[in-house]
Amino acid sequence: MRTIATCRDDFPVLDQTASSGRPLVYLDSAATSHKPLPVVEAERRFYLHDNANVHRAVHTLAARATDAYEQARRAVARFIGAPQPESVVFVRSTTEAINVAARSLGQMLLREGDEVLLTVMEHHSNLVPWQLVARASGARLRYARLLEDGTLDLDSVREILAGGKVRIVAVTHQSNVLGTVNPVAELAAMAHEAGAVILVDGAQSVPHMPVDVQALGCDLLAFSGHKMLGPTGIGVLWGRIELLERMEPVFGGGEMIREVELDHATWNDVPYKFEAGTPPIAQAVGLGAAVEYLESLGMANVHAHEATLARYAVRRLQELRNIRIYGPLDDRRGGLVAFNVDGVHPHDVATILDHEGVAVRAGHHCAQPLMRWLDVPATVRASFYVYNTEADIDALVEALLAVERVFG
Ligand code: PLP
Repeated sequence: MRTIATCRDDFPVLDQTASSGRPLVYLDSAATSHKPLPVVEAERRFYLHDNANVHRAVHTLAARATDAYEQARRAVARFIGAPQPESVVFVRSTTEAINVAARSLGQMLLREGDEVLLTVMEHHSNLVPWQLVARASGARLRYARLLEDGTLDLDSVREILAGGKVRIVAVTHQSNVLGTVNPVAELAAMAHEAGAVILVDGAQSVPHMPVDVQALGCDLLAFSGHKMLGPTGIGVLWGRIELLERMEPVFGGGEMIREVELDHATWNDVPYKFEAGTPPIAQAVGLGAAVEYLESLGMANVHAHEATLARYAVRRLQELRNIRIYGPLDDRRGGLVAFNVDGVHPHDVATILDHEGVAVRAGHHCAQPLMRWLDVPATVRASFYVYNTEADIDALVEALLAVERVFG
């Protein structure tokens, strides 16, 4: 039986040294996760045995490729509790999913003076697409404030919704910097009460905790395969089927049409209406295998494992002098910790950590407004996944002592 305690063997990429010759400790899964052998094998098998384009031919390989692609869609639907596989749209990434949703919803719902409610903790992917849409529609972007501890100020959400102009709420489920897990079910109820639709950026939640779209009550959910043990180049836009049916496509081309005349066209059914051109087929198959892998570990176990690691990391980092941790210090955080070392630029910290074999990320993490709110140019971020252990966090702490020796 596969368990979190033994799964590390499925990730041979972790079994190597960093360029400094030290054993590699990978703490950058919030940027992208590694891929276990069954995922790599699923993609390899697809290319070696089933490769063909989907939906467009009757020959044997085309039928097998189409089956594999649609099977992946069913696996993803099951994984997020979607009532129908057709409500799962395959796209390239969270970024593409949000751009598609923003453009389509923007055209459908936003008029001059309407509002879109975001938060200060959004990733640029859930911010810039709305800026583009606001510019095109004359809508205004409103930002819910954060509380001192890095959690969302729900009073600020209530205040903005009370104005009666919000048509769309777009909020991250888990911040990629603060680790804050937002109360999405509550936000969905608040948005609906105010007559708005709600999109959830699940890039950092779907890989790390049980996510059930029906329990959350959201209208749209975006996430990326590469952050959840799957390949790059595949992402998901899930939507309530009635909403997807009302939304216009954003990309035109093959597969998304029913009939094409010289001067107009009619659309295919959901989800194909949103999947113009040849989709990332092998990548979808890989994502299907990633979903099965995560299911075999159990998402509740994945979440519990990461919560334990985050708690341990916060405790160990607090033992060090000169470390400032961002985001909530209690269980409202997911499996990542952003911090700074007093007086040392985060890039210098990350460079020394790399020398010690520890891979972390330093920068603004595509959240510049949040950096301004934190009043820092950048942070270091250590992020955890199923293959990490407390020993990896001990290695991080040891490496931070090396930073102290160099700069101390
Ligand atoms: N949203 C959040 C919260 C993220 O952390 C990320 C990636 O870091 C994205 C969106 C964008 O994901 P992708 O680059 O896979 O489109």
